[in-house]
Amino acid sequence: MLNLILFGPPGSGKGTQAEKLQAKYNLLHLSTGEVMRAEIKSGSALGQAAAKQMEGGALVSDELVCGIIGNYIKQNTDARGVIYDGFPRTIPQACEFDKMLQANNQSVTLMIALDVPDAEVIQRIITRGKISGRADDQSEEIIQNRINVYKSQTAVVADHYALQGKFYSLNGTGTIEQTFELICQTIDAHT
Ligand code: ADP
Repeated sequence: MLNLILFGPPGSGKGTQAEKLQAKYNLLHLSTGEVMRAEIKSGSALGQAAAKQMEGGALVSDELVCGIIGNYIKQNTDARGVIYDGFPRTIPQACEFDKMLQANNQSVTLMIALDVPDAEVIQRIITRGKISGRADDQSEEIIQNRINVYKSQTAVVADHYALQGKFYSLNGTGTIEQTFELICQTIDAHT
């Protein structure tokens, strides 16, 4: 089973690329941000617990996110593969993820990072915010906060998978199609 982590700062294009990869390789796509936004919309206890942190650009708790992922892994053991988009985002999440996969006789296949400079991701998120209506896309301060959180808590997750020989970083500044091509080449060369 292919377990692909799409990695990179907010606004680097993970969601867009995940949708294209899902169709091409017949994979499932799990976006933890999307799951959480759906929970908030539904008014569930889980959503209520996550809403404040998400809207300010902070991370929600590792326990909450890992609980969602653990259930997802157990429910989808017969899939061809899964694209993880927005997870793992901290070292404790990565350690827990490795354990949960192992308990289901699986492991991370590849982590592919989209490298996009800060100025460009900020611009992309501002543009997206006009259409998406996402609360966390609306102010430059919150966007900057998310980038700071990425640098302080998330970027190190790349080292965790680099140590396992699974980390590949690609230029994410080309067109959607060019970036997609780079990702496909990386997947095809390593699976
Ligand atoms: P982006 O990558 O543009 O920040 P996401 O939809 O992936 O958008 O995430 C939006 C928000 O959801 C994050 O800022 C965070 O609050 C929360 N979130 C998503 N994934 C995780 C995670 N793995 N751990 C903690 N919080 C998360």
